[in-house]
Amino acid sequence: MPRPIHAIVSHSALRHNYALAKLAVPHAKVLAVVKANGYGHGLERVTRALPQADGFATLEIDGAIALRNRGFTDTILLLEGYFDPAELRAVQAAELATVIHCEEQIAMIEAQPPTRPLDAWFKINTGMNRLGFPLARARHCLERLERTGATRSITLMTHFANSDQPGGVEEEMRRFNEVTRGIALPRSLANSAAIFAHPDTHGDCVRQGITLYGATPFADRPAKALGLRPAMDFRSELIAIQDLEPGDCVGYGSDYRCEVAMRIGVVACGYADGYPRHAPSGTPILVAGGRTKIAGRVSMDMITVDLRPVPEARIGSPVVMWGEGIPVDEVAMAAGTVGYELLCAVAPRVRIGETDAF
Ligand SMILES: *Cc1c(COP(=O)(O)O)cnc(C)c1O
Repeated sequence: MPRPIHAIVSHSALRHNYALAKLAVPHAKVLAVVKANGYGHGLERVTRALPQADGFATLEIDGAIALRNRGFTDTILLLEGYFDPAELRAVQAAELATVIHCEEQIAMIEAQPPTRPLDAWFKINTGMNRLGFPLARARHCLERLERTGATRSITLMTHFANSDQPGGVEEEMRRFNEVTRGIALPRSLANSAAIFAHPDTHGDCVRQGITLYGATPFADRPAKALGLRPAMDFRSELIAIQDLEPGDCVGYGSDYRCEVAMRIGVVACGYADGYPRHAPSGTPILVAGGRTKIAGRVSMDMITVDLRPVPEARIGSPVVMWGEGIPVDEVAMAAGTVGYELLCAVAPRVRIGETDAF
């Protein structure tokens, strides 16, 4: 038998979470965001689970082209657009939709007459200050893009910095509406947090990322409260058990010291599998169906867990690092990060399977 760590991705959970966004956004399209290999779930797997999706958004062009070649005919959006003229040609050849966020990208269109018309997503910087045309230049640059004659559609878009906060989109919406006033083009503003918290941002098309995978973008609204289901179960097994005496220590640095006699379980999962090394003792984990806590430092290939709450645990007992019964967001919170990072970081050495059963 191979090392027991593996992940299982649920097609039905992906479809359920996508359907929740569709319900929340009845009058707009929902693009499923599948960048970073479908937030670690597998680009091919996630797109196959959602054949009815209105479209997909990613930023790695190889995956976008592969998706097109597999026969998906609707929108495939590149969220950072193209990086050089060769990529612009590839965008056109595969009929990908592309974000255009800076004047250099418009200049590339001007320099090489397009072979096919482009679906352009014109990105406006409303305060995030990463990508997008500055407010003061946006109108001018939009006209410049239109003058190329290279586009068959233009969607106006922005991305929010604080949509997980109450009132976190007000100033950005004001800026976006002011700069786009009177322009009769479709709009796309909302990420997951805005889909569920800010209906005024829905526009014509939303971009659902983290909630598709069943994790929450909010610090104070658990995924379950939003009706989401975890799309990934990250599982392993106990491969060893140590019976320890008071004063015995566990793992590197001997950080965890037993106060009482206790059993410590050793799980085949470490930071080289994508488990966060910064998860401290006390981080929740599911062992033999019961909740317990990790005890001692996360090492490259193993974590150690307190077996007192699960006396029935044996070598071979199942462990869930996150998934059903143990939200990735709880593990992330304990480790000082967010579910996004943990899901994306599941390592290549972890086998990923899939199911339709949960
Ligand atoms: C990643 C991304 C999204 C999805 O955000 P979530 O918070 O995961 O829903 C939406 N829009 C853009 C531009 C992105 O880069």
